[in-house]
Amino acid sequence: MPLSRKIIHLDMDAFFASVEQRDHPELRGQPVIVGGDPRGRGVVAACSYEARTFGIHSAMACAKAQHLCPRAVFLKPRMEQYQQVSREIMTLFYQYTPLVEPLSVDEAFLDVTCNHQKEPSATRIAQALRQTIRETTGLTASAGVSCNKFLAKIASGHNKPNGLTVIPPEQALAFIRTLPVGKFYGVGEVTEKKMQALGILTGGDLLRFSRQDLVTLFGKTGHFFYDIARGHDTRPVEPTRIRKSIGTETTFAEDILEYGQVLVVVSGLVHQLALLLAQKKTGGRTLSLKVRYSDFTTITRSCTSPLGFWGAAEMLAQLPRLLAATEAGRRKVRLLGVTVSNLFNEKERNVLRRCQLPLPFPPRRASSDLFPAARVDPAAPAPFTERL
Ligand SMILES: [Mg+2]
Repeated sequence: MPLSRKIIHLDMDAFFASVEQRDHPELRGQPVIVGGDPRGRGVVAACSYEARTFGIHSAMACAKAQHLCPRAVFLKPRMEQYQQVSREIMTLFYQYTPLVEPLSVDEAFLDVTCNHQKEPSATRIAQALRQTIRETTGLTASAGVSCNKFLAKIASGHNKPNGLTVIPPEQALAFIRTLPVGKFYGVGEVTEKKMQALGILTGGDLLRFSRQDLVTLFGKTGHFFYDIARGHDTRPVEPTRIRKSIGTETTFAEDILEYGQVLVVVSGLVHQLALLLAQKKTGGRTLSLKVRYSDFTTITRSCTSPLGFWGAAEMLAQLPRLLAATEAGRRKVRLLGVTVSNLFNEKERNVLRRCQLPLPFPPRRASSDLFPAARVDPAAPAPFTERL
């Protein structure tokens, strides 16, 4: 085990639903579901523990949730309210350490190896934080304490809600050995099935495989599995997560088939995206179009521009080419999205402008993400060259 760090993972319990129950006392003790309209295609964003006893969980279709519990109370999310509470709890975290890495509005990693209070016990800090959160917000949080991020996160989920679980470094290996692989970070349903087929049911089973075996079987994540089975997770708590992409998407109440309609929707999304990029003074080299068909098959088509996509016009110009590489107009579509990634800011853009000559667009890469040359619509506009 490398030099031991003291990591806390704090996670609010049923966050959105708990805020609603706090603000609406008549909902306490009731199955509360925050999310979309059960008559439409909404999904569960969060649900109270009372709702969970009916088998309801987040990301489930609201219609199904209503079927499981007809008396459940459905509420639309009040994001501003949740963000307000989120700011309150994050402020509490920073009273202990600047090393706070928020994972979402309601959970964060804290590295308290060194902390402002000079408190040597991470467990005492976690307990104090849970209490202060309760006093400040009226809400409960669960905490996990251990020597790395992997174990701290597993620990916080171990005794939910309103729980505290500590995995001391000397117990880490024993804990991982018995941990079902389904609980491992990075193991989704598909990987879990694959592991089960190989007889890998727990962390201990991973120990039988060499690093090379695991990489052959699981790609790059194989390294992570190899290390984590031995308790090694050196990922630091990263105080500011660098945003990797900016995007917007929309799901339709009814699938759409007509190409013209698809084009109108995507153009609207591009305008929204251009506003987001302008607000953040950001552009990105890669523009991606996401299409989910009625059977939930989801594809992405991307193109790149050396000086980046910044405004609606340059993104709109690429839409016919990107759409031509999909089955839009021939196959029913339920979701459309546009995203810009490989982000960079205006300062970097100016540096690039000074040192890079305009290149023909788009540079073709041998990547499945790029649309194949044969599929490019000949009617699409000519490749644009960056204005300098
Ligand atoms: Mg939570």
